[in-house]
Amino acid sequence: MYTIDQQKLPQSGETLAQYIYRLRTDAKLSQQKLAEKAGIHLQSLGKLERGKTSRINQTTKTGLATALSIPTEYLDAVCYGLPVSLIETPKFCPNCWTPGEEPDPAWTLHRAKYCLICGSSLRSTCSNCGQSLASFTHKFCPHCGSSYKQLTVTKKR
Ligand SMILES: [Zn+2]
Ligand SMILES: [Zn+2]
Repeated sequence: MYTIDQQKLPQSGETLAQYIYRLRTDAKLSQQKLAEKAGIHLQSLGKLERGKTSRINQTTKTGLATALSIPTEYLDAVCYGLPVSLIETPKFCPNCWTPGEEPDPAWTLHRAKYCLICGSSLRSTCSNCGQSLASFTHKFCPHCGSSYKQLTVTKKR
């Protein structure tokens, strides 16, 4: 059994504008702050939130996903109106990932099972309690308090 951070999942029928606005206000970020974090223009963010833009380019998408601690798939799902059930949980390589840092985009690809860099099996859960990784900004599992890094050094051969 695993749970995803429900707060961060796009709700059905939610538009890109509503979604970004909701995540931004949940994170208590001003438009200015979010734009800075995401490395995009304040104007572009304003347009997005007013629903003037429904498609976003890769740079904007990656920037926003990082700034809001969500996988880019969530933004894809909202943009293309995909059902949330198709979205996979964020995955990481236990060998290469430094907890608290942005994961390699290759790990969050749909159907990716192994790390392209070292070949380890990707994980999406805490190896201590089995709860899914809630956010890549977390260094510790919010459910059991274990450090993701400590847990990740065990390598199976
Ligand atoms: Zn790796
Ligand atoms: Zn845990």
